[in-house]
Amino acid sequence: MDKSSVFDIALRRYGGRLHIPALDSETAQVYAAYSRYFDGALKWASATNAHCDWVDNFQFNALATVARGHELIGMFSGIVIRTQQYFYCFLSDPSVLASIGNASSETPNVASLRSLGLQDPTIYARARAPTDPKRKNLADALTVCTVMCIFFHELAHTTRCHLPFYREVIGATSYLELPATELTPEESRLRILLELDADHFGAFNHLGFWRMLYEGLFGLSPIPLTAEECWCISVTMSFFIMGSFARRSSEHPSHPPPAMRYLHLINRALSQEHGMYVGPHDVATKGFKTVSDWWISNERPRGIRQDALSEEMFEELQALLREFEFEYWPKLETHIILREKSIAG
Ligand SMILES: [Zn+2]
Repeated sequence: MDKSSVFDIALRRYGGRLHIPALDSETAQVYAAYSRYFDGALKWASATNAHCDWVDNFQFNALATVARGHELIGMFSGIVIRTQQYFYCFLSDPSVLASIGNASSETPNVASLRSLGLQDPTIYARARAPTDPKRKNLADALTVCTVMCIFFHELAHTTRCHLPFYREVIGATSYLELPATELTPEESRLRILLELDADHFGAFNHLGFWRMLYEGLFGLSPIPLTAEECWCISVTMSFFIMGSFARRSSEHPSHPPPAMRYLHLINRALSQEHGMYVGPHDVATKGFKTVSDWWISNERPRGIRQDALSEEMFEELQALLREFEFEYWPKLETHIILREKSIAG
């Protein structure tokens, strides 16, 4: 059975494989373009055993699983639509990145802002694009960067063997990025550590791939931010979006707070250029602040931790990384070695 059919069957309970030819031609082009990015990125990252496709599901979520020997990454089709909604609202706010384009011509997208963070498709209100063309182009570029951030994060769950490890410890056969049910304290602890690991390894590949894509896509029609500035805004937004779609009442969260995830990435993926994090005024914290200021000013989302980048958050992160290193790494490493051997053989 080919990979696409295995994918369709394995993800049937979530909607199965998105049938792109059935979509209107404009939407089909968007999904097909992303599918080409996914295939290119898998090749680029030498993840030859993995297969990524769209799941026909309007929600914001993603899933990593293994079926019939194939490592599968399911990106829910709602990811693109909803990420675009966030960035269209973001850049339709005249106070956001006010020096870019004619920001004063923008007006906040009130109806769409109200529906951000709600998975229910009946409440969803699509955002109109920013009116200034430069700001619209930037919003589109940030959408691409964010979707690829989520893809590389899922790929890292796969290549870092989080699936067999999670199965060994918890007994689950797939890893749904935003779990549908309440987690136990044990699951929550394990997932937070695995999320930091996926962020770390996902970010390295994402930044490298994004730089390449940025040159190819925007070399002729430049966008007003550097590849790295786009990357900082996109990863922050992806953490906030995941936080907003996660179960709100959860006492046992599935992910670390956005500020902690961002601090982790600054030190892992950007440290060569920017140096290690030294404090809340660090140059690499600018992207985080741009997103979190907008987020807080719009009081969204309900219920996620609004922690700022701080020394306390940094210490909390270091403690989690030490816990990962001592308690989980030796077991996880065994799975990684086994996977590499099985792919090579
Ligand atoms: Zn994850």
